[in-house]
Amino acid sequence: MRFPRCAWAKGKRTAMTTAIVLAAGRGKRMGTDLPKQFLEIGGVPMIAATLRVFEESSVIDEILLVTSPDYVSYCENEIVAKYGFSKVRGVITGGKERYDSVWQALLACEGSDYVFIHDGARPFVTGEILLRTDAAVRKYKAAAVAVPSKDTVKIADENGFVQDTPSRSRVFIMQTPQAFEYDLIRKANEILFRDGGMQDVTDDAMIVERSGLARVKLVEGSYSNIKITTPEDLKGLGIKACN
Ligand code: C5P
Repeated sequence: MRFPRCAWAKGKRTAMTTAIVLAAGRGKRMGTDLPKQFLEIGGVPMIAATLRVFEESSVIDEILLVTSPDYVSYCENEIVAKYGFSKVRGVITGGKERYDSVWQALLACEGSDYVFIHDGARPFVTGEILLRTDAAVRKYKAAAVAVPSKDTVKIADENGFVQDTPSRSRVFIMQTPQAFEYDLIRKANEILFRDGGMQDVTDDAMIVERSGLARVKLVEGSYSNIKITTPEDLKGLGIKACN
C-alpha cells in the first residue's frame, strides 16, 4: 500500500519526520501462533495501540509500518484501515533480522530529514517521550530513549563468572524510539553492512556507535515503556497470552 506524501506538503513544519514502526518479528518467545504485536491489549491489537501514539503526535509527519509478508494485508485492512491511521504512508515488508527490517524502511523513506525507529511491541510509549526525543534528535542528530537501571548490572566472562561491575549511575536500559538524522542512520547502516559489522546488533543506537559517525544522546524514557516479549510481560498487565 502506498500513499503519496501529504503531511509534509501542508508546509507547517520545515523538516520531514518519518516514524518506522517495526512489526515484522515472529515473537517466538511469546509462544503464540499470532505474533505478539498483534495480540490484543485493552481491547485493541498491540500494534494499533502503538500506532495511535505516533498518529496523534505533532512531531511525526508520516509512518511506515513494517511487517512480514504474511501480515501485510492484515495490517492494511485490520489495522490501518480499521483504525483510520491517516499518517501511515505504507505497509512494507521487513527482513530476517530487525536491522534488515529497519533497512527496508530506510530505503522507503528516502528524502526524510529525521526517522524515529520504534518497536511495535512497545505500546506504552507516550506523546511526551516523542516530544523529548524530537527535541534531542534536532540538537544532537542521534537520540535514544532509555531509563536508569534499577538493578546492579554485572559483566560476566564466558564461564559465567563476574568480571566487572559498572557503576550503576552510568548503566541505562535502552528502549525505543531511537531517532536519527536520516542521512546519518542511512550512512551508518551502509558502513556496517559493507564491513560485516551487524553481528549482535540489537538496537539502532549500536549501529551509529559502531559506525563512529556520531555520539548518541540518551533521552529520558519511562519504566512503563516496556517491550512485550514473553507471556510474563502480559501477565504483569493482567492479560493471558492466547492465540
Ligand atoms: O524480537 P524483538 O522483541 O527484539 O523485536 C523488537 C521489534 O522488532 C518487534 O516489534 C519486532 O516485531 C520487530 N522485528 C522486525 N523484524 C525482525 C525482527 C524483529 O520488525 N526481523
